[in-house]
Amino acid sequence: MKVNFDVAVVGGGVIGALAARELKKFDLSVVVLESAADVAAGASKANSGIVHAGFDAVPGTLKAKYNVIGNAMMEQTCRELGVKYIRNGSLVVARTCEEEGILPELLFRGRQNGVKGLKIMLREQLAEEEPHIADGIAAALYAPTGGIVCPYGLTIAAMGNAMDNGAELLCGFTVVGAVKTGTGWQLVSADGHELTARIVVNCAGAGAEQVAGLFGDTFFRIGFRRGEYMLLDKSVGTYAKHTVFSVPTKAGKGVLVTPTVDGNLLVGPTSVEEDEYTTATRRAAFSELRQKASAMLKEIPFGQVITSFAGERSYSDRHDFILEWGKPGVFHAAGIESPGLTSSPAIAEHIAEQVAKALGAKKNGDFVPVRRSMHWFKDLSAEEKNRVIAQDAAYGHIVCRCEEVTLGEIYEAMRSNPPARTLDGIKLRTRAGMGRCQSGFCQPSVLHELMTEFGMAAEEITKNGGDSRIIVGGEL
Ligand SMILES: Cc1cc2nc3c(=O)[nH]c(=O)nc-3n(C[C@H](O)[C@H](O)[C@H](O)COP(=O)(O)OP(=O)(O)OC[C@H]3O[C@@H](n4cnc5c(N)ncnc54)[C@H](O)[C@@H]3O)c2cc1C
Repeated sequence: MKVNFDVAVVGGGVIGALAARELKKFDLSVVVLESAADVAAGASKANSGIVHAGFDAVPGTLKAKYNVIGNAMMEQTCRELGVKYIRNGSLVVARTCEEEGILPELLFRGRQNGVKGLKIMLREQLAEEEPHIADGIAAALYAPTGGIVCPYGLTIAAMGNAMDNGAELLCGFTVVGAVKTGTGWQLVSADGHELTARIVVNCAGAGAEQVAGLFGDTFFRIGFRRGEYMLLDKSVGTYAKHTVFSVPTKAGKGVLVTPTVDGNLLVGPTSVEEDEYTTATRRAAFSELRQKASAMLKEIPFGQVITSFAGERSYSDRHDFILEWGKPGVFHAAGIESPGLTSSPAIAEHIAEQVAKALGAKKNGDFVPVRRSMHWFKDLSAEEKNRVIAQDAAYGHIVCRCEEVTLGEIYEAMRSNPPARTLDGIKLRTRAGMGRCQSGFCQPSVLHELMTEFGMAAEEITKNGGDSRIIVGGEL
């Protein structure tokens, strides 16, 4: 194993993965250190997946700056990486007279931030654009540049592209120690592995304050706010065309109802202040979400909920992104709460520019920015699918019936960068287990393929690493 790198990125979320990809555009050796069993294990897995237009952030903040630049970069980034992205536009709907008064403020703020095409829409046009809009709503702020993206798809594809260009990924590497060396830092993992890097980039999300502390950087604090969601079946995925937001408050952007890029309908998130990181869901969240979402869209078919989940926002005590150097050779990208996903391509570019400048690195002329979509087979016509199946029968064998995922796609998920080694890893790459039956049908088959591919016993296969084993004390 190589142990000396130019750059070590701590954290394999969307910021760390895209930063690694941008860093590989320079002539630098790069390693990503991720404590979980796979990338996209933190906030980048469980969020709303909205590419925000940029009218919410306070002008002059880093959030406002990177939101607008990131929004503009997202389409090309997703095209290069084969990630699903749709510019569906967003609506902030005013439910009361008081909220109606806030819409012009948001419009003004958006224009200050450089957001294009914003306008206030009145009831008549609103009802045409969004047929299920609730009766009491008189006006909304329309943002045509708002979009939706698959957050974990973007993270996995960015890491895959970085690896295809020579970056390394070490999962299960929890950074617990840092020692200054003559040329940089020696990093130590919880299980005693060591490596060195000339520069360390802290993209550790919820762990960013702790990681900063290892270098003696104590100039920011991280707080946590949980957000719970309900995901509805694809049969009602078009119930909303746009991303429909309530008017933002101090606690965040409020509850939204949105289609997802995979055709589901998403309702959430709640906003619950926490003392520590947690992604458990609460029963009370469902009535809160139902009530708030129903004030925006009428008769939402809540009978079609297929699952619930939660993500944890990690915010800084500055309530803005922290993007700055700490101790020599340590760059912090911390407190990346919403609109962090939207901002991620722009933040990653900024990180790489800072690091390349510090190391005097030259451009990497061999960098290949393109990665094949993880959905290439699904997007083929029936004729084209038949042609592929004639060459490789694995694509003719359906493993997940709800999402129509083939064995060929499961093999790809295990064999392409970054390889999936857990049930969730397969699920996030292929959607096997994400459908209406929530893996009731396909899980044993996926488990079997993981065992065969990696020569593991059934008891060794986990849902998402650690102790999340599926089979305990018996044969499959
Ligand atoms: C509920 C919710 C809704 C959101 N909605 C949106 C939205 O619609 N649009 C938007 O733009 N943004 C949204 N966001 C924000 C967005 O999700 C985040 O800004 C983004 O995912 C942050 O990415 P990250 O890479 O900084 O952190 P993470 O994705 O959390 O990644 C950090 C990684 O670091 C790893 N790590 C931690 N400590 C260590 C260590 N010591 N050693 C090694 N690895 C370590 C973790 O395991 C984790 O994988 C939302 C966030 C939440 C929680």
